[in-house]
Amino acid sequence: MRHSALALLRHALTGNRSWAPSWRDPAPKAAYDTLIVGGGGHGLATAHYLAKNHGITDVAVLEKGWLGGGNVGRNTTIIRSNYLLPGNTPFYEKSMQLWEGLEQDLNYNAMVSQRGVLNLFHSDSQRDAYARRGNAMRLAGVDAELLDAAQVRAMVPGLNLDSQRFPVKGGLLQRRGGTARHDAVAWGFARAADQLGVDLLQNTEVTGIRIERGRVLGVETTRGFIGAKRVGLAVAGNTSRVAAMAGLRLPIESHVLQAFVSEAVKPMIDTVVTYGAGHLYVSQSDKGGLVFGGDIDGYNSYAQRGNLPVVHDVMECAVQLFPSMSRLRYLRQWGGIMDMSMDGSPIIDRTPVDGLFLNCGWCYGGFKATPASGWCFAHTIATGQPHALNAAFRLDRFATGHVIDEKGAGAQANLH
Ligand SMILES: Cc1cc2nc3c(=O)[nH]c(=O)nc-3n(C[C@H](O)[C@H](O)[C@H](O)COP(=O)(O)OP(=O)(O)OC[C@H]3O[C@@H](n4cnc5c(N)ncnc54)[C@H](O)[C@@H]3O)c2cc1C
Repeated sequence: MRHSALALLRHALTGNRSWAPSWRDPAPKAAYDTLIVGGGGHGLATAHYLAKNHGITDVAVLEKGWLGGGNVGRNTTIIRSNYLLPGNTPFYEKSMQLWEGLEQDLNYNAMVSQRGVLNLFHSDSQRDAYARRGNAMRLAGVDAELLDAAQVRAMVPGLNLDSQRFPVKGGLLQRRGGTARHDAVAWGFARAADQLGVDLLQNTEVTGIRIERGRVLGVETTRGFIGAKRVGLAVAGNTSRVAAMAGLRLPIESHVLQAFVSEAVKPMIDTVVTYGAGHLYVSQSDKGGLVFGGDIDGYNSYAQRGNLPVVHDVMECAVQLFPSMSRLRYLRQWGGIMDMSMDGSPIIDRTPVDGLFLNCGWCYGGFKATPASGWCFAHTIATGQPHALNAAFRLDRFATGHVIDEKGAGAQANLH
């Protein structure tokens, strides 16, 4: 069933009684050509592009919980491609371009909203760093504008530019950046992959990886063994645990990252604002709630809930930038588990085990990468070779020293 204005009207006129489920609920087969472990954004996008770009449809996505219950449904929804380094910029720009056509491609409303991402700067040296990043982006064909304080004031009227300690001196703006409705992205990829023949297996936890003579044979799951020629891991915060099942020890740490939503108010911010002197990013959802995020909780954990010091820090930054927010009640908070890599950049690569592929290291920026990650991971799995866009995201770069230390915009506090 295709979604369209006409179909919506037909459902409305018939009492919304004939909606079909968005995807099937198949029983696992004994074996597949390819298994993707993890039904988050990256796993589902990979399955979609394996079928769509490479014609590989004998694929199952194995998800231990429900589709979209992980970070893809827990993030603060920001999409952008404002990176500094050549290893990252083309990849994230590809993602931005895929976002721009995603809803047509998936026939699903992912509420992609190019409302702009504005990174504030507070000192001359920070302005120079942002100008450098903006210039690097423009050289790579990515849009970037450096705004002075007056332009920022005009764009975000509620913002306090005149803090005694960290006055706002301007901002780096990427107008094509913005937000997308996070769980709709998971559902859209899931529905499109299902329609191309991919089996989506929920409540199917991978508990072991069967390997013989250095080659993957399949995975043990809570619903029995499932064989496969190729297995791709896209389990984000659980990467270390799942990779350990194949005897791999990775340069990844798991940390909690929290998000917060306020009560709904009338429109007050129509862009995404990030604070350059602390760690805060804020935007307003279509329902009216303000959506905040900040730094990771600084300890390793697999618990999807955070601690109060980060709440305090985020709210302190928010009220400093937007004093009127001191009167808001915040409604909810939650956490997700980040797969923090040691240089803040991702890994999309083969592993030393034949037929076993790895997608991880997204730190707290993997949502924006979802389409390009799926695109490149599907290519890597289908061809056995990296795509040009993920050629730098090698697993062995930590051993060889070819790290992509994205101080411009990666997992570095204050800079994104
Ligand atoms: C609070 C917060 C705010 C964020 N804000 C942003 C943002 O604004 N912009 C941005 O770009 N990024 C953001 N991120 C990061 C982004 O959400 C993640 O990097 C990205 O979603 C990770 O990829 P994923 O969607 O595939 O992960 P997930 O959705 O976590 O998918 C991994 C899946 O693997 C499953 N799994 C794990 N172990 C197993 C197993 N053994 N067997 C089967 N399945 C398993 C999990 O249940 C999970 O569903 C944020 C994250 C959080 C938590």
